[in-house]
Amino acid sequence: MALTSDVVVIGAGVIGLSTAYHLTRKNKNLRIIVVEKEKFHGAGSTAQCTGGIRHQFTNPLNIQLTQISYPYFLRFAAEMQYPIYFRKRGYLFVTTQESRMQSLAEIVHQLESRDIPAELIDPEEIASRYPFIKTGDLLGGSYCPLDAYADPYGVMEGYYRQCRRMNVEVICNTGVESIITRNGEVKGVRAKQVEISAPVVINAAGPHLHLVARTAGIHLPAAPYRRQVYVCAPLQQIPAGIPLVVDMDTGFYVHAEKNGILLLGGTDRDSSPGLEPVVDRSRLLPFIEAATARIPILEDAQVTRIYTGIRSLTPDGLGILGETGVKGFYCAGGFGGNGFMHAPAIGLITACLVLGEKPPLDVTPLSPGRFINSRPGENALF
Ligand SMILES: Cc1cc2nc3c(=O)[nH]c(=O)nc-3n(C[C@H](O)[C@H](O)[C@H](O)COP(=O)(O)OP(=O)(O)OC[C@H]3O[C@@H](n4cnc5c(N)ncnc54)[C@H](O)[C@@H]3O)c2cc1C
Repeated sequence: MALTSDVVVIGAGVIGLSTAYHLTRKNKNLRIIVVEKEKFHGAGSTAQCTGGIRHQFTNPLNIQLTQISYPYFLRFAAEMQYPIYFRKRGYLFVTTQESRMQSLAEIVHQLESRDIPAELIDPEEIASRYPFIKTGDLLGGSYCPLDAYADPYGVMEGYYRQCRRMNVEVICNTGVESIITRNGEVKGVRAKQVEISAPVVINAAGPHLHLVARTAGIHLPAAPYRRQVYVCAPLQQIPAGIPLVVDMDTGFYVHAEKNGILLLGGTDRDSSPGLEPVVDRSRLLPFIEAATARIPILEDAQVTRIYTGIRSLTPDGLGILGETGVKGFYCAGGFGGNGFMHAPAIGLITACLVLGEKPPLDVTPLSPGRFINSRPGENALF
């Protein structure tokens, strides 16, 4: 089968669908086809995401991406007519290390200079607000009350439904096998069942970003890394409304869902690349040690499920966004643990770039061409 469109988006995750949404919102006459390899939209990283939205970043560009995305989350449910359970709950970062405390102080300073409320908290205050945290060895922490949580699947589904209402076509069960190029320009995509001609192709293939790019001769050092999530039954001592707590020293985090169910993890900073979402049981013990060292009551926690999700990471911890060396071929991914919270901004910026409009911020630091070969690293905080 042969099709023709103005834009092909590869990947029906939160980033691909946000991009399709922003494009069609800016120009409703565009024919946009989203191609997804799985049977259903939203089955990639987005389905495994724990939904955190934060302003606390060391890199100002990430703060700006949150600032652009945040208003979209605030009005998302009304505009897209789909619930996303957005809750301002705050993030609390804690540490025992002087250098990390210094980073937190710099983050708070940066946020205050942008009129975003944030504070440094001493261990006594942490203990009084959150008695379940062991604070004896802490130097302190930082807290931003605007940091939040929303349901990633809801956001993806909201975008999907809005795209469908706006006549974006979404073709599932169709894995793109190659990008068609000629004389340095993109001409479309090829899958087993279909070939689609288009002057613009946007690679939003999540953890497969680098594989799809390679078929166009573009080598991106983004790589897929596993992240294990430990789902635990509610504990009375850890109320549902707590902030997302991150122990910066071990990466351990605890996130309480609205029904009190706990999502725990973050202790796999050293995992090796791989696309299979396998659970590595050998990681359980170090995880338990990190978890109970910071929140001793977790010794009583009942782990009901462990699952693994995949995040696409880059060497400098920043995402990849922009046109590649092949004219008309764009990449939007590699955002690691921030791709959900920044999806509204990523979609908006990609749409601006494709349509030749000035994006709301300078995205040169995200350009696909910026890398020298090196091992993908972890984001500044986790
Ligand atoms: C455990 C975990 C927790 C996380 N927590 C957070 C968090 O708290 N906050 C946050 O902001 N981010 C978080 N993230 C990161 C976030 O989930 C991702 O950055 C985001 O979902 C990426 O969206 P995406 O659309 O790029 O990728 P995906 O959702 O993976 O979508 C890409 C789509 O492309 C499809 N695809 C791939 N190859 C092809 C092909 N050849 N042809 C057609 N389709 C293809 C895939 O099937 C997939 O559906 C977390 C990730 C994990 C794993």
